Amino acid sequence: MKLPDNRGYFGEFGGKFVPETISYCLEEVERVYHKQKKSKVFKKELDFYLKEYAGRPTLLYYAENLSKYLGMKVYLKREDLLHTGAHKINNALGQGLLAKAMGKKRIIAETGAGQHGVAVATVCSLLGFKCDIFMGQEDIERQSMNVFRMKVLGAKVIPVTTGSCTLKDACNEAFRDWVTNVSDTHYLLGSCLGPHPYPLIVRDFQSVIGKEARVQILKKERRLPDYLVACVGGGSNAIGLFYPFYKDKKVKLIGVEAAGFGLQSYNAATLVKGKIGVFQGTMSYVLQDSQGQIKNAHSIAPGLDYPGVGPEHSFYKDTKRAVYGTVTDKEAIEGFKMLSELEGIIPALESSHAIAYLRKLSKKAKNRLVLVCLSGRGDKDLDIVRQAQISADTKKRR
Ligand SMILES: *Cc1c(COP(=O)(O)O)cnc(C)c1O
Repeated sequence: MKLPDNRGYFGEFGGKFVPETISYCLEEVERVYHKQKKSKVFKKELDFYLKEYAGRPTLLYYAENLSKYLGMKVYLKREDLLHTGAHKINNALGQGLLAKAMGKKRIIAETGAGQHGVAVATVCSLLGFKCDIFMGQEDIERQSMNVFRMKVLGAKVIPVTTGSCTLKDACNEAFRDWVTNVSDTHYLLGSCLGPHPYPLIVRDFQSVIGKEARVQILKKERRLPDYLVACVGGGSNAIGLFYPFYKDKKVKLIGVEAAGFGLQSYNAATLVKGKIGVFQGTMSYVLQDSQGQIKNAHSIAPGLDYPGVGPEHSFYKDTKRAVYGTVTDKEAIEGFKMLSELEGIIPALESSHAIAYLRKLSKKAKNRLVLVCLSGRGDKDLDIVRQAQISADTKKRR
């Protein structure tokens, strides 16, 4: 079976639920992508930038202290070591070169926490594109450092003041802009989300994670891992790790979602708590209330704070190829500290969800071989963790 099929479906998930005007833009991207995918020149250029600019291949590190502590053998795929500090650059570079192949002059993107915006702004200055980033007003206020970073890189940050003034509204605005400016503009979507062909394109560009990891673990351990673990926001670092192992049925795939405060009514665990529906152009699991209204997500990890998830994950869930678990804000902070103190590696709060899940996994997976995607580094989150620490201390003192 082909994943996705020619119409962009992963089983019943995915597809292209958009107005005709957007459909036309998507078809151009799809056509050019399929052509470039086969091009040796394109592959060579992408490999060059991934290696010489972004810092690939990333290390596969045997975390000995953590392994002893948990009673499992844990390897970390070090996407945190990439330029700009996370896996997002893999997709931004791939789509940047795609935009170049399409002859575009301008790139637009949506961003929530600003991490994707920073990766896009970086690639735009590298490849010489004009860059406009749509960002909800609410997020602009919360993420002022990333807004400044994008500006330093020469991008323009356009505030979005519609709806809840967050990521999903920024996404809508980017699509609106694209339709009017498609002749010179590429929309660089940031995760394996949205209408076909984006879930396919982003999955393919992020698959470099799993392809490398597969070769590296075979070299180090002479066998495949028992488990792969990755955090899931939109799902791109997870699908990038999982997909190259899809056919290795003995390798268990575990996606970890954010359970926020741990309350049913307030989290970002789309696959675990959501219902099937159409959101932002694709059929997938979505966080919605009993009336079918999209719920606002919450997670302490800015990159997991989103009510949707990529359709390929929905398919993996329903076909039981992967299982999905949750980690609360509090547990994520414990994971953050555990890796920092045991290994001297400060993980992003998103990645800390995957790390924290290892504690739960260790109860049933003694001595097993586990490969975790460390999607990003935690420098960007130090302030959030410090604030959480201060408020926890204050509560204790009361
Ligand atoms: C954005 C981000 C994520 C979440 O995005 P996915 O598409 O689910 O990978 C995870 N980790 C880090 C470090 C991020 O910046």
